[in-house]
This record gives sequence, structure tokens and C-alpha cells, in this order.
Amino acid sequence: MDLRDRPEDEAFRKEIRGWLGAHVVGEFAALGGRGGSGDETFGFEVRLEWEHVLAADGWTCIGWPETYGGRGAPIAHQVIFNEEYVKAGAPGRVSILGEGLIGPTLIQYGTKEQKDRFLPPIRRGTELWCQGYSEPNAGSDLANVQTRAERDGDEWVVTGQKVWTSLAHQSDWCFVVCRTEPGSLRHKGLSYLLVPMDQEGVEVRPIQQLTRTSEFNEVFFDGARTAADNVVGDVGDGWRVALATLAFERGVGLLGHQLSFRRELDRLVAMARVNGKASDPVIRQRLARSYAELEILRFNTLRSLSGIDGPAAPPEASISKLFWATWHRGLGELALDVMGPAGMVTGGFPYDLDEFQRTFLFSRSETIYGGSNEIQKNIIGERVLGLPPEPKGQLR
Ligand SMILES: Cc1cc2nc3c(=O)[nH]c(=O)nc-3n(C[C@H](O)[C@H](O)[C@H](O)COP(=O)(O)OP(=O)(O)OC[C@H]3O[C@@H](n4cnc5c(N)ncnc54)[C@H](O)[C@@H]3O)c2cc1C
Repeated sequence: MDLRDRPEDEAFRKEIRGWLGAHVVGEFAALGGRGGSGDETFGFEVRLEWEHVLAADGWTCIGWPETYGGRGAPIAHQVIFNEEYVKAGAPGRVSILGEGLIGPTLIQYGTKEQKDRFLPPIRRGTELWCQGYSEPNAGSDLANVQTRAERDGDEWVVTGQKVWTSLAHQSDWCFVVCRTEPGSLRHKGLSYLLVPMDQEGVEVRPIQQLTRTSEFNEVFFDGARTAADNVVGDVGDGWRVALATLAFERGVGLLGHQLSFRRELDRLVAMARVNGKASDPVIRQRLARSYAELEILRFNTLRSLSGIDGPAAPPEASISKLFWATWHRGLGELALDVMGPAGMVTGGFPYDLDEFQRTFLFSRSETIYGGSNEIQKNIIGERVLGLPPEPKGQLR
């Protein structure tokens, strides 16, 4: 694989770098690139406005086909976009679930009417989405979903509980996996519904996290309604659509991730130099190891992305997910060791976290969401290495 920019890549890099240089100014620059994972409540209103600025010049949804308002950007350009975005310190995106998950799912499985209705406001950043998959008894074991939907005339009526629903409190719509065939088991009888959040039958209760912010929520559907047409794919065939969305979840966003990790590591090394920890041989060795592992992550991510031509990631992307989540959790632990006793002290009341304290606490969740480490290992074992499948219980 040749990792150098081709002339057309260079031109694209120059274009996006120039655009970001001219637009990441004022209140957008003042956010300092914040608002990413674990920090999503930070500067929300300004970040929402930023989404509209990006959209106005066609810099949202660049990987979508042009027919649907995207740029049809190849993977190489999406990678460049993500790299330059992080380098420019541009604000954390607010519409990641719309652009990266439900948008591509609708492009693949939606009807023309659904595409016409839902894709433009995602692209403009005027409608935000959340993902209604997990339930108290359905996380890794998603096929155990119990939330149900019944037809009532021209509508579906949805009843049940979702949990850990990121950004539900800021979302206009939720894509909900629910059971539409009473008595059905496991993967059968599920459907993929699009449900408006602003209605009486939907209650969103924030869950406070270790980081003291509430990025995710419990969502209760109690007779919530949505139009009969708002089902993606066939009724009863929701499992297939749900899996397609999961494949989009592990796509090109990963490279931007890697670059923001690099900046974080650079800041940690700078801190270790200033507070003298850089002369501790064990800390030095751990910093060097983090650097080397990050390079491995970068090459591996490029390798797995170079083999694909669409937004869905191949099973090999599980290697990157397992690796980055574990790496970042380790970085949080290393950061607290570099900070020493200062890492134990917080400002404000009850507590405000600095960057590394937030990393230390939030990174605990990264080995869980988007498929836990154990689930990634199962995927790698079964779908990448071709090992025998894990033993299944009676109901599977
Ligand atoms: C920050 C954050 C944001 C999230 N956002 C969303 C969201 O927006 N929408 C949404 O629907 N969900 C969301 N989730 C939920 C997330 O998808 C689930 O937490 C995850 O799938 C794990 O499910 P669980 O929490 O039920 O744990 P469980 O599935 O109960 O797992 C418990 C433990 O058992 C292990 N385990 C389970 N099954 C196996 C197996 N077969 N083999 C080996 N080990 C196994 C797991 O690895 C884990 O260690 C979010 C979670 C977090 C932490």
C-alpha cells in the first residue's frame, strides 16, 4: 500500500485545509476542537451552528453519493478530510449518528420516499438522530430485544425501554429495533422503525456518567407513535438492517480518532517533560510503547480501510476497535500516572475534570460501546480467523 498522497489527493487536502483555515475562527476556534466522544455536551449550541456552516459549503456527508447530496468522496478523501479536520482543531461533530449510521442505512435500504424525507435534513444538520438498540436485557445480545411495536391503522405504536441511548435528549428522531411479530424469538420478527422523539409517548431520562456529564439516557416508549411507512426494509426483516448499521459504525471515522489520539499523546509527553516524569525510566518506556502502538493502529486502520469501497467496515475493523479502545484506556491510566497526585485533585463543585482525568474516566466506556472487547474478539475469531463459533445457549 502506498501511503503518499496522489496529486488528486494533494489537491483535495489543500482544498479542505484552506476551507477549514478560513472557517475555524472566532467562537468555532475557541472550542479548541472539543466536543468529541465523552465531551459531547460541551459547547453544543455553537457546534450545532458549526454543523450548518459545514453543510452550507457541502462539507457534511462527503462520503454519500452525489445523488443524495454528498460528494461521493472516495475512502482516501474521507480519510484526508478526517485528518485535516482534527489537525485544524475543528469542533466535535454533532450529527455523527445521522451522517455515519442512519444516513448510509437509508441509502442502502430506504425507500425513495424515506430518502427524500430524511436524508436532506441530516445533510443540513437540521435533524439529529439517536440509536435505539440496547435495552436492559439486550446489549451484546441484541437479538434479545423486547421493545415491541403494533400496527394501529396507519401507525405503529411502540412500547418498551431502551438504555444507554447517546444524545437522545438532543435528537429529533430515533432508529429503533423492535419486535413486530408477537411471540417471535431472537433475530426473527424484528423491525427497524424510525420514531419521532418529540411526542407524548417518549420519555428521555438522562443517566449521569462518571465524567459527571449525561451523554446517554434511558428512553421509555409508552404508546409512542410513528407512521406505518417509517419502517426501513421489510417488516420482520429488521435484523438485517440493524446489522448493516453496525457495519457502518466501524468505518472511516476511525482515522480521525487515531489523529486526535496522537495529539493527546503529544500533550501528555509535553506534560511529562514539564513535571519531570519523563525522566522516570518506566514512564518513558510506557510513553514510547504508546507511541509505537499508535503507529500500529494507524497502519492497521489504513490496511483495513484500503480494502473497502463503501461506508461499511469489513470484519477486520474489529481489530482496530479492540486495539484503539484498549490503547486509549491504557493512555488514560498512563496519564494519571504522569500527573501523579495532581491527578487525584479536581476543581469546581462537585468536580470538574481536566482533559486527562476525563480520558481516564470516559475511556472505561470505550471498551464497551460499539461492541465490547469480548464481542470484538468473538468477531475476529469467527469471521476473520475462521475459528469455530462460540457455543450458543438453548434459545439461540
Ligand atoms: C458511552 C456509551 C454509549 C452508548 N451509546 C449507545 C447508543 O447510542 N445506542 C444504543 O443502543 N446503545 C448504546 N450503548 C450501549 C452499548 O452498545 C452496550 O453497552 C454494549 O453493547 C454492551 O451491552 P451491555 O451494556 O448490555 O453489556 P452486556 O452485553 O450485558 O455485557 C456484559 C459483559 O459480558 C460480556 N459478554 C457479553 N456477551 C458475551 C459473549 N457472547 N462472549 C464473551 N463476553 C460476553 C461483555 O463483553 C461485557 O463485558 C452505549 C454504551 C456506552 C458505554
